[in-house]
Amino acid sequence: MRFCSACGREVERRIPPDDDRERFVCAHCDTVHYQNPKIVVGCLPVWEDRVLLCRRAIAPRAGFWTLPAGFMENSETTLDGARRETWEEARARTEGEELYTLFDLPHISQVYMFYRAQLSEAEYAAGPESTEVALFLEQDIPWEDLAFPVVSATLEHFFADRRAGNYPFRARTLRPEDWARLRR
Ligand SMILES: [Zn+2]
Repeated sequence: MRFCSACGREVERRIPPDDDRERFVCAHCDTVHYQNPKIVVGCLPVWEDRVLLCRRAIAPRAGFWTLPAGFMENSETTLDGARRETWEEARARTEGEELYTLFDLPHISQVYMFYRAQLSEAEYAAGPESTEVALFLEQDIPWEDLAFPVVSATLEHFFADRRAGNYPFRARTLRPEDWARLRR
């Protein structure tokens, strides 16, 4: 951030009174511009024994496969956002959603939340951010070509939980050093 969104003057980095960390502060109008983590919401859509993946048309990780997910918008719930992203990226509708995985990514100040969901019908298509959308059996998952560690981790939990017969909610912190232990 370089300029104050309240008055247009340049901002500076300093610790405001009674605060404990540096913020962008406007020396002209004294506005403190707080920056907080972003929330990414998405779905793990399931149809019979297959899961729905999207091939990304856009950076980052264009060409790699992902679960439909994206940044939460203001004034929506996490579930609204997960459904919206599933529609935007995969032109698919879901039902029976249950919050399934939550990942803290402190190194990039993001929180990911995935809902496990049933596809309402076996209808899907590539939205503008995808080049391809498809249902995958476990043995056909393109593990080497998954876009993000949160996707690998969610799919690994899902297939293990399916074998065990129940799907407990999972909350994990993923740091860069954990990524090598995932399958991609
Ligand atoms: Zn200002």
